[in-house]
Amino acid sequence: MHYGFDEEEEAFRAEVARWAEKVLAPHYQSDDKAAEFRRQQASDMAQMGLTGLRIPEEYGGQEATAVIAGIAAEEVGRADFNAGYLIINTALISDILVRNCHEEQKRAWLPGIAAGEIVPCIMITEPGAGTDAAALGLKATPHGDDAWMLNGEKTSITLGMAADRAVVLARTGGPGARGVSAFWVDLNGPGISRSAFDDLGARAIGRASIHFDQVRVTRADLIGEEGGGFVSVMQGFDYSRAIIGLLCLGAAEQSLDEAIRWARDRVAFGKPIGTFQGVSFPLAECATYVAGARHVCYEALWRKDNDREHSAEAAMAKFWAPKLAVDVIHQCLLTLGHVGYSTEHKVGQRLRDVIGLEIGDGTAQVSKLVISRNLLGRAFAP
Ligand SMILES: Cc1cc2nc3c(=O)[nH]c(=O)nc-3n(C[C@H](O)[C@H](O)[C@H](O)COP(=O)(O)OP(=O)(O)OC[C@H]3O[C@@H](n4cnc5c(N)ncnc54)[C@H](O)[C@@H]3O)c2cc1C
Repeated sequence: MHYGFDEEEEAFRAEVARWAEKVLAPHYQSDDKAAEFRRQQASDMAQMGLTGLRIPEEYGGQEATAVIAGIAAEEVGRADFNAGYLIINTALISDILVRNCHEEQKRAWLPGIAAGEIVPCIMITEPGAGTDAAALGLKATPHGDDAWMLNGEKTSITLGMAADRAVVLARTGGPGARGVSAFWVDLNGPGISRSAFDDLGARAIGRASIHFDQVRVTRADLIGEEGGGFVSVMQGFDYSRAIIGLLCLGAAEQSLDEAIRWARDRVAFGKPIGTFQGVSFPLAECATYVAGARHVCYEALWRKDNDREHSAEAAMAKFWAPKLAVDVIHQCLLTLGHVGYSTEHKVGQRLRDVIGLEIGDGTAQVSKLVISRNLLGRAFAP
């Protein structure tokens, strides 16, 4: 068994860590207070190559492995959890576009994403369809031979206020997944209106509801086959879930490092608090669970890179890592005592931010359905 990162992966990790600490970390709290997406962040991330990780070089990207994308998410998660949404969105969306689009579409759409000029988002959820995504109802009504009119509402869309373009799932056919097609939609065009959520966390990124009122799309905007949109988009989630896991674990690892430092330095009853097992054992447990979840995430990404089945591993990563990260960050906040409870410290913001990804991209229950299906067979977990 060969186990561990190679030299190139270690060098990439060190480079991203240094850069994220210098460029991203200073804005983590001020961006949260401003509660508005800072466009410069997309340019900064693009300059570092982080918005084009999964885009082939010929379209301006890095053509990086899934493991490299995971390393980037983990290190960015340590410095600025919210900046990691740009990695998730661009990696997931470009993966969908690369797999399903024809040459002309790839040439037109991918370079702008890699350059950070086009901030993309993905629109699946609707007011009446969340977990049961295949029940989505945004209507794509035929308009002549080669076009459709989109009417309806998408909701809870990450970067919904700021994004330029979206992968939009819409119903072109009958009920169920087979009646759904995916379109690449210009969000600055006519018929689109947006309204922002006032969220607990990830305030620098934001979520929004998007209304479609007679928005015209053509066959040139269709991603893949008509009626094939649901499957092609859902396949992308198979590995982006492990990247989400690592983003959350990055925030947990950073909190753990800070709590460990505090346990060494803070004195109570004449001794550093780290000498009390009531303090050190919870930290030891956190470190153990984080190590376990990290292995699951990287195994899912390694399997993806090596063309092996990885749905169950990615689902394990998605259900376990965000929940674990929330628990670990909470424990770290308690270890920091009254200092951790102040908004001056980053740990409380991390807790608010990470909770969002216990829900976003599917709750733990959906992941457990995928895992159960893998264990027991489809008849037991349809
Ligand atoms: C931070 C954040 C970012 C998001 N970003 C995006 C985005 O960019 N694009 C997008 O399209 N959507 C996005 N979403 C929406 C997200 O994908 C949905 O919230 C999620 O799929 C759950 O849907 P719901 O909220 O409607 O919950 P519901 O489907 O109403 O479920 C409510 C509860 O019931 C449980 N439940 C439902 N069905 C079952 C079942 N069969 N078995 C067991 N339990 C079940 C769920 O797990 C959940 O706990 C985001 C959400 C958040 C919080």
